[in-house]
Amino acid sequence: MEAALRTAPVIRTTVLLTALCTAGLVTLVTAAVCADFAAERRSMLEQIDAMISATARETGVAKLSEPVREALSSVPRHEFVPADQRTSAYRNRPLPIGEGQTISQPFIVALMTELLDIEKTGKVLEVGTGSGYQSAILSRLVQDVFTIEIVPALGKSAQAVLARLGYQNVHTRIGDGYLGWPEQAPFDAIIVTAAPDHIPPALVEQLRTGGKMVLPVGTAQQELLVLTKNANGTTSQKTVAPVSFVPLTRDP
Ligand code: SAH
Repeated sequence: MEAALRTAPVIRTTVLLTALCTAGLVTLVTAAVCADFAAERRSMLEQIDAMISATARETGVAKLSEPVREALSSVPRHEFVPADQRTSAYRNRPLPIGEGQTISQPFIVALMTELLDIEKTGKVLEVGTGSGYQSAILSRLVQDVFTIEIVPALGKSAQAVLARLGYQNVHTRIGDGYLGWPEQAPFDAIIVTAAPDHIPPALVEQLRTGGKMVLPVGTAQQELLVLTKNANGTTSQKTVAPVSFVPLTRDP
């Protein structure tokens, strides 16, 4: 009871600050708090940690590695969502980003990033730039991120946000990611954030031996898969969880 009473004003303050930030009614004092959203990011990370351990048996990921946690706690997710979604930016759910597309739920971003099993020296390809949030997370973990978006308006706006926030190692392209980015292949890892109905052969081709590709596959029913490219050119696949992504579309 006492704890509940003590926390109530804190919650009210957070709600008030968030409302002020969203309304743009900021003074210099509140601006510093608004610009940061660090408390919201911490709370998002706690929810992700809890969900990762609750789903560990199914996904095979018992906990997030420190670099992935660091990336999630530093990338300003509120900068990647439309202004009218800012108050919801750190909720553990997907959000609309315009053009009928969505930014993935933070838990899914965390899980897919962890499954990529990447190293700081790596080079990653992302298919489906969307808001640019997943690219920003990856940019903290690898040397270079190459990301492709098929909807020009989204690709351009993500590129502008990433440049404004200084994510210089993210390279953007507008086009059909089903075909990959052959000039930059091979990639150490590939992440696909829209669901194709089959594994795109060009992406398997552009994955280096030993590298992993994490992608949702399916139409009405989708599964998150981790594909590993073996030394003899074959691939092995593991099904991680049922998921729900926007479909991967093709240029007409
Ligand atoms: N990773 C994104 C999630 C975006 S949702 C983020 O962090 O916000 C998936 C995105 O994939 C959408 O923006 C959609 O337009 C894009 N997409 C769909 N088919 C595609 C294709 N063939 N090539 C590239 N992008 C595609």
